[in-house]
Amino acid sequence: MVYPISATKLNAYQRCPYAYFLKYEKRVPVTEGFGSVVLGNALHDALAQCHGGWTQGDRVPDWGWISDCWTRAATTLTNKQVREGRSILENYYQKFIATESVFRQPLAIEGRIQATLQFENLEFSVTGRYDRIDYLEDGLELIDYKSTQNVKSPKTTEMELQLGLYALALEQTYGQSLKYVSLLFLRSGEKVRYAATDRHKRQVRGVLKDLAWQVRHDAVWDAKPGNQCQSCSYSQYCTAVNKSAQPEPRGTKIPSLQLAFSL
Ligand code: SF4
Repeated sequence: MVYPISATKLNAYQRCPYAYFLKYEKRVPVTEGFGSVVLGNALHDALAQCHGGWTQGDRVPDWGWISDCWTRAATTLTNKQVREGRSILENYYQKFIATESVFRQPLAIEGRIQATLQFENLEFSVTGRYDRIDYLEDGLELIDYKSTQNVKSPKTTEMELQLGLYALALEQTYGQSLKYVSLLFLRSGEKVRYAATDRHKRQVRGVLKDLAWQVRHDAVWDAKPGNQCQSCSYSQYCTAVNKSAQPEPRGTKIPSLQLAFSL
């Protein structure tokens, strides 16, 4: 059996195994609001073109190049969104491109992280997405662009599993060690860097072993009450926080698939 895993899933499991079970094992649906992502997607497209389509080596591009990339990426936006996006990219250009003496060619642009890790005879298929990977002198820097408004940078402790998982996966893909995961907040021009260490990899191995045991033995998925309960979409089913909890729904997972482990 191959078990798909991502940093988002790993964080969810560590926060609360029961909520994880309802969401990913039983696939109980939740109603979540979706904000407009059109502007964000266009900004990501423009930056992918800007960094991936530059053909003049390490010569630093002028603003006209970024502006052209934006024009190509923004064809379906409203005039207001086009102005807003151009202003965000001007800020990005001044902060992260115009100040450089050479233009660094990225190792990869807008790709998928794919790797496999094995614990307790269970194979995890690691997946994730990145916006850009740069080569540094001593390893790799994975960069994620954040385009939403009022988004706060996560605390270092909230990034630990992502750092460890990506470090293990990128070692497998590129044979290089991950040095940093960096979040680049396009609206504020802030860049926050998180250093990846061996401790993060050990931490992920520990959580994956635990999860593998849980999945293989179909053990009780313990509820873990805490601050995360305030925003939990499953609290109505959770007897740990709700004395009159509703019966757990059936979910959409086909039960026989849960037994299809290759042990
Ligand atoms: S309400 Fe809290 S303890 Fe219950 S499932 Fe949600 S996160 Fe876990």
